[in-house]
Amino acid sequence: MDPHRPRHVVIVGGGIIGSTTAYFLTRHPAFNPAIHRITLLEASSIAAGASGKAGGLLALWAYPQCLVPLSYSLHTKLAAEHGGAERWGYRRVECGQLTATVVKSKKLPSGGTLKKQETPAKDGQDWQKLPKQDQAAAKLLQESALPFDLDWINGSLVREYAEMGMPGHTETAQVHPHQFTTSIAALAQERGVDIKLNARVTKLGLSPMKEEVEAVEYLDRISNETETIKGVTDIVVAAGPWTGRLLPKTSIEGLRAHSVVFQANVSPYAVFTNITLPKDWKPAHRDKKRHKGNVDPEIYARPGNEVYACGEPDSTIPLPETADEVECDESQCDDLISYIGTVSPVLGAAPIAAKQACYLPRHIRFGDERGPLIGELNVKGLFVASGHTCWGIQNGPATGKLMSEFIFDGEATSADISVLDPKKFKVGV
Ligand SMILES: Cc1cc2nc3c(=O)[nH]c(=O)nc-3n(C[C@H](O)[C@H](O)[C@H](O)COP(=O)(O)OP(=O)(O)OC[C@H]3O[C@@H](n4cnc5c(N)ncnc54)[C@H](O)[C@@H]3O)c2cc1C
Repeated sequence: MDPHRPRHVVIVGGGIIGSTTAYFLTRHPAFNPAIHRITLLEASSIAAGASGKAGGLLALWAYPQCLVPLSYSLHTKLAAEHGGAERWGYRRVECGQLTATVVKSKKLPSGGTLKKQETPAKDGQDWQKLPKQDQAAAKLLQESALPFDLDWINGSLVREYAEMGMPGHTETAQVHPHQFTTSIAALAQERGVDIKLNARVTKLGLSPMKEEVEAVEYLDRISNETETIKGVTDIVVAAGPWTGRLLPKTSIEGLRAHSVVFQANVSPYAVFTNITLPKDWKPAHRDKKRHKGNVDPEIYARPGNEVYACGEPDSTIPLPETADEVECDESQCDDLISYIGTVSPVLGAAPIAAKQACYLPRHIRFGDERGPLIGELNVKGLFVASGHTCWGIQNGPATGKLMSEFIFDGEATSADISVLDPKKFKVGV
């Protein structure tokens, strides 16, 4: 790689992956603003998609392991360098998993002896679980008593509790994803990245023989004019679930998930749950069979007096054209609020700060292997960095750093991510 060659890098997408890529490009030793231009095109606003509506859990037990340790330590470094604790809520958090059985409150025997758990219904619905824990992570769960300061959960309903790793060890942390992504984008902008909002990329311009990238065409959604950026040397497609729209052969697609934010000041725990609901629990969602008695929301206390929770994804509504057009089905949020209230009276009584939905980006591949595609496609200068499933916030910094290395060094040097190479999956243009 010739560091003196003028470059114009265009990043498509202002989620966490596009924003961290922009940030790390400006921090790369070879970056020279006199000869290198970086433009980030975002179809709506920074963090308008999943990067602004995710939980924000970070974990050393996340996947894929080729990205996780680097990204986890970069989160620590970024927070130390830029005041992340205040600016984006970076902090260490305890993490556990509980199994609870809820019976009608009037039937609850004093002393909390509970009914045996009903067998969870076989799912058979068109939704799937958000697979945050893989088998390796599940092995780290250690049975324990419900921690005394996890006092926002009704302990009399909890049948089992397991801690993730050992308490006091730094395996799990968190950030506020919207604050993190917008801060990182602002830090990149301060170092010269040109961020264009409401700029929806409609075409990736390639040379006549499709050997290299040349231009990027986008629709300015304010003026409704089509604009073309010429002289482009590198394109990074970081459009999350929309990546498959620009690069259909990547097969990266989206899966909708709803989440809610409670206003509540509670102890810092991230809790995976498995709740058996009472038989007479009535869902608000029109598909009454959706919850057959068992639900498993993830609930994360966050700084700033808020608690985030997300439920099961669904595939009923296809991905819209832009993030600001994502439909939120309030009844799904209401169900989430209602069944969380069955195990947490504190959250059951808390004001609701947000009901929202977004699309998880994923690349479906063989077997249990999950993870993004990161690397160059079969066209010189055309890169993809998308499909981070449930761990894009955790893995964003490493992805951004590695993308900056692909662009300025010609290869990823900070981690061996050959298993995520798009060429391995024979995806191209
Ligand atoms: C409910 C839920 C909870 C989650 N919780 C966690 C968690 O606790 N921890 C964790 O690590 N991860 C979590 N995730 C996963 C994480 O949110 C995603 O992996 C991550 O946000 C993906 O980032 P991204 O930048 O690839 O995509 P996105 O955030 O979707 O960003 C893509 C951006 O590209 C823009 N775009 C799309 N098409 C175009 C175009 N043609 N032109 C210009 N711009 C375009 C979009 O507007 C969008 O802003 C969660 C996800 C969900 C759904």
